[in-house]
Amino acid sequence: MNVTVFGTGYVGLVQAAVLAEAGHRVACIDIDQEKIDRLKQGQIPIFEPGLAPLVKRNHESGNLIFSTSAAEGVAHGDLIFIAVGTPPDEDGSADLRYVLTVARTIAEHMEGKKYIINKSTVPVGTADKVREEVTRTLRERNALNLEFDVISNPEFLKEGSAVADCMKPDRIIIGTSENASEQKMRQLYAPFNRNHDKVIVMDVRSAELAKYAANCMLATKISFMNEMAVIADKVGADIEAVRQGIGSDPRIGYHFIYPGIGYGGSCFPKDVQALKTTATQLGIEPKVLNAVEERNHSQKHYLLDKVVQRYGDDLAGKTFALWGLAFKPNTDDMREAPARVLMEELWRRGARVQAFDPEAMEECQRIYGARPDLQLCGTKESALTNAEALIIATEWQQFKAIDVAAVTSGLNTPVIFDGRNLYDPLQVAESGIEYHCVGRPEMN
Ligand code: NAD
Repeated sequence: MNVTVFGTGYVGLVQAAVLAEAGHRVACIDIDQEKIDRLKQGQIPIFEPGLAPLVKRNHESGNLIFSTSAAEGVAHGDLIFIAVGTPPDEDGSADLRYVLTVARTIAEHMEGKKYIINKSTVPVGTADKVREEVTRTLRERNALNLEFDVISNPEFLKEGSAVADCMKPDRIIIGTSENASEQKMRQLYAPFNRNHDKVIVMDVRSAELAKYAANCMLATKISFMNEMAVIADKVGADIEAVRQGIGSDPRIGYHFIYPGIGYGGSCFPKDVQALKTTATQLGIEPKVLNAVEERNHSQKHYLLDKVVQRYGDDLAGKTFALWGLAFKPNTDDMREAPARVLMEELWRRGARVQAFDPEAMEECQRIYGARPDLQLCGTKESALTNAEALIIATEWQQFKAIDVAAVTSGLNTPVIFDGRNLYDPLQVAESGIEYHCVGRPEMN
């Protein structure tokens, strides 16, 4: 099938590459000229495991093309995905500017029937707005005879495993009431739907809400566990034992109940905020979501509070090693990352930071530029050199086995603040390292 994807970010580029791999002919359209130029040269603007070879292979075979020409994109695809950003507006609601711009662009250029598929995360009612925008533009063109449908097809990929998630989706939600649209979408996703039927068809509004409900449920699980961890800290319980104890109940399960220093990324914070705003606009007080957000905000300061308890509020003249900048492992994405709150709070108190992340160093450089209180280090070991203590903000695989010799020889004093509970407190204490973590008794 001929498919066009507007927006070559984490969602658009991955989905486009995966559809091309399955044999569809896919055009990727973006307004970012530099991004498109880089993609044409085989340079992938984001880090996502498995993405680079997939893009390269399908670009070379001609199944995946890149362009900034919206006209070319609209002419190419019968099915046109909207996969642009929906950042928070000033009032917390999702900013639909980019989505509606693409809707208008499609209507300006279309000459035949188009299936407009919304993959961006958007509030309930957005498909109607897209439909209105397209109709308005077609009317201006005197082209109301051109047919189209607007379908909701929310994306559930996880950054860090986006390619695998798109190759083997848990479910494919299709929001439409049109039989022809459902059949087109089933045909499109057939290569990913062979083992058993993963397609769930529903009305457009339910599909739009399902995406927010999923992300808000996951954010709720995290905030709940984080609150339990804070309680565990105070009562002298071990949250990791509690986690295993409750995870063994199949109604709860082991997934997504790790305590830590808060959720980040481009989705959970903005989606919780957007659903809260939707609820408030409808006269509903979002009591659960308010609590989820509040806990997350304070959790991002939780480890910092422990640093301040240990060293005092004035950290001038002190250097801290920071392992992990990305909001989670296997990505270079630092949007809303807990590490950013940590770094900025350390700087505010006069401290220097020596940071290492396996993938997000370039992104960190882009965000913060050159500054005297930030040194980006080439290895995790070099980040430790002459630092006061080590702070761990992201659970990258390569941080998970403790290197006692590197920590004790690198740091001025062997102290670890672990925001991800990577190590066994007793083992760390026995090796002479002072260990502070989240919701576990300290053994020193
Ligand atoms: P992103 O910011 O990484 O990428 C968006 C891209 O759209 C950018 O390259 C931008 O230049 C491009 N763009 C903006 N306006 C355009 C236009 N008029 N024409 C063509 N391109 C345009 O965003 P993302 O992380 O890929 O997220 C996209 C959407 O998918 C959001 O609504 C997000 O909430 C949702 N989503 C994201 C994830 C995730 O893990 N990142 C997962 C599921 C859903």
